[in-house]
Amino acid sequence: MIPLCTPSLEGNEALYLQQCIETTYVSSVGPFVNRIEAMVAEATGTASAIATSSGTTGLHVALTAVGVEPGDLVILPAFTFIASANAIAHCGAQPWLMDIDPASWTMDTQLLARCLEKETERRDGMVIHRASGRRVAAVLPVYTLGMPADMDAVVTIARAHHLPVVADAAAALGATYRGRPIGQLGADLSVISFNGNKTITAGGGGAVVGEDMDLIALVRHLSTTARTGEEYDHDRVGFNYRMTNLQAAVGCAQMERMDALVAAKRRIHETYQTAFAGLAGTTLFPRPNWADSSCWFSGLVLSPPAPLVAEMKLQLRTVGIEARSFWKPVHLQRPYQDCPRTPMPVSEAVWTKVLTLPCSSHLSASDQGEVIAAVRKLVG
Ligand SMILES: *Cc1c(COP(=O)(O)O)cnc(C)c1O
Repeated sequence: MIPLCTPSLEGNEALYLQQCIETTYVSSVGPFVNRIEAMVAEATGTASAIATSSGTTGLHVALTAVGVEPGDLVILPAFTFIASANAIAHCGAQPWLMDIDPASWTMDTQLLARCLEKETERRDGMVIHRASGRRVAAVLPVYTLGMPADMDAVVTIARAHHLPVVADAAAALGATYRGRPIGQLGADLSVISFNGNKTITAGGGGAVVGEDMDLIALVRHLSTTARTGEEYDHDRVGFNYRMTNLQAAVGCAQMERMDALVAAKRRIHETYQTAFAGLAGTTLFPRPNWADSSCWFSGLVLSPPAPLVAEMKLQLRTVGIEARSFWKPVHLQRPYQDCPRTPMPVSEAVWTKVLTLPCSSHLSASDQGEVIAAVRKLVG
């Protein structure tokens, strides 16, 4: 079977794990934790990074740090992994779900501006969503498939309404937007995931990056039980959300190879792009000119005369190729059916048509050739 996506652990992963055992630094204090924070800060072009136990917990602590409270709304594109919405719900808040831009599958900035203008009002310095009476507390753009949203526009709109921006950059390590690395796009905080299916993994884990040292210090404080000194004094309800040295050991070995891993992902994307150019019933994932995606996943958008996604998945499986569908939008998920939302023509049209194809960073040219031949045969 050619798998969809498996990690490449051919660097110093085993060596660094062994060092954790030998030194007994297995928990959330340790040299690899410090090192991965420095590596992530450098790779994202930010002053500082806080390593967390997952991308989801990173989002939760980041939203808490920018002031999201129970009863608030956080603006979120509907086409995202459910973890983005869960992090909002963990704050006791609710997503205000908006449709995506068809040309990038990221936040539709015109829709964002229109919704804020038409459906909110300012009261006591707060942005209030008129229909629900709830405070709008933050904007959470998502870097879909490693493709940054149009952040100049997102940040301009958010600033005009005095709203903080937390970016879900879970799979976007290595991406750039107008030539800038993902920590320099204007979000107050940006969150990365090191989950096992991401290009750079720590087995599980995440990181929160930002330029504002006070805000970063607050993230660090909240993620380590809000402890105020050597004694057991705590000044807030904090979290136990730090990455362990074991995870960071794997993550550091992966970060050492970040450029090569991302380059491999981009090469795989280019190869599919060339191979499927003009194939009837197929288009590739959108690539707006404002960004250079980290190409987390590669695949196709299928429409007639191509077979349906479910049919393609089955047929590819019979010839030993794993392919999958992709995110089901948040408004179609049971916990989020009643959230305030815009109409969703784009999200609803897109998600049923996405087929992800094998794209491990170590996918061989011959295996990718096999995938291409099988897809062409089924579609053609
Ligand atoms: C992977 C992912 C997450 C969650 O990260 P975890 O580390 O699995 O908690 C959140 N948002 C998006 C867009 C992701 O792709």
